[in-house]
Amino acid sequence: MEFALLTTATHESFLRQESDPIEKDRIKSQEIKLLCSRLVEIAESTVTTEGWRSAGLAAIQIGAPLRLFVVRVSQQNSFQIFINPQLEFLGEATDMRDESCLSIPHVTGKVSRHKRIRLTYTDENGNVRTVKCDGFVARVIQHENDHLNGILFTDKTTEAKRTSNF
Ligand SMILES: [Zn+2]
Repeated sequence: MEFALLTTATHESFLRQESDPIEKDRIKSQEIKLLCSRLVEIAESTVTTEGWRSAGLAAIQIGAPLRLFVVRVSQQNSFQIFINPQLEFLGEATDMRDESCLSIPHVTGKVSRHKRIRLTYTDENGNVRTVKCDGFVARVIQHENDHLNGILFTDKTTEAKRTSNF
């Protein structure tokens, strides 16, 4: 299958579906390896007209409704792969910041997210891992995790703004 970035302009109902978990014995398959490398490639190469780069991308955004996303966990590192993630909020603290999404071009809006989270996931080698994150990375993970449940950031913002007329 040819994977390419999908947007709400043409694929809203596709993007609204809930993604399926990836069975344990499929995680190290050639098919999932290929999907992961395309996901990283598309996340790294996509720059929007406003000059934004992607901080994360979910498999469903390139046409594979599976519970898998990639997130750039630090500026130095490349994208990290998260398979079958389980998200937990740590504490009650939230903050409100602008978000955007490669699948919803030219729109930004403020979204409230938990400041601290814990994520349990399987990596690309099939190992189950747990990480605690805060700040920007925690926000990106919550945004990508929403994609796996068919939720878009514009569902959570009260003031979506168009940044251009394209
Ligand atoms: Zn998004």
